[in-house]
Amino acid sequence: MTQRKSVIASFVAILVIAGLGYATWRFVNEKSAQSCRACARPVHSHMKTVAILDGQRANYCCPACALSEHQQSGKQVQVVELTDYLSNTTLKPDSSFVVRNSDVNPCLQHRPAVGEDSQPLESRFDRCSPSVLAFQDRKSAVAFAGEHGGQVVKFTDFATQYQR
Ligand SMILES: [Zn+2]
Repeated sequence: MTQRKSVIASFVAILVIAGLGYATWRFVNEKSAQSCRACARPVHSHMKTVAILDGQRANYCCPACALSEHQQSGKQVQVVELTDYLSNTTLKPDSSFVVRNSDVNPCLQHRPAVGEDSQPLESRFDRCSPSVLAFQDRKSAVAFAGEHGGQVVKFTDFATQYQR
């Protein structure tokens, strides 16, 4: 009986160790998967964008970052997944809409609004600005733009602007 107990105890111990190892692996793995390939900022879950670049899937913090890879590198970029800003569900780019230039830009919220000398920072080029948020249909995009400003554009039309 005691032998049986110790067998169970070691079995449980192995499970715990395996579980810890898996958790660590997942943590490390997710961390590297969750930074933007273009700007290295953390990928916000409600804005995650997946594109194929050089035949490989890459994560981006926003559609603008993914599409600007084409301009930066001249390589063909195909956006294959967008994330609905409201519901955080994965969207097919072909049927999605984006709101550009609204007053919501999660990529910039960590930045101080003023510089070290307390003067407002000059606005400079930032590929995440103006912000680009994805929506599953025109109706929700228009409703969002009604509250936060910005222009509603079909994603496919938005993407072609970057392919020039
Ligand atoms: Zn980015």
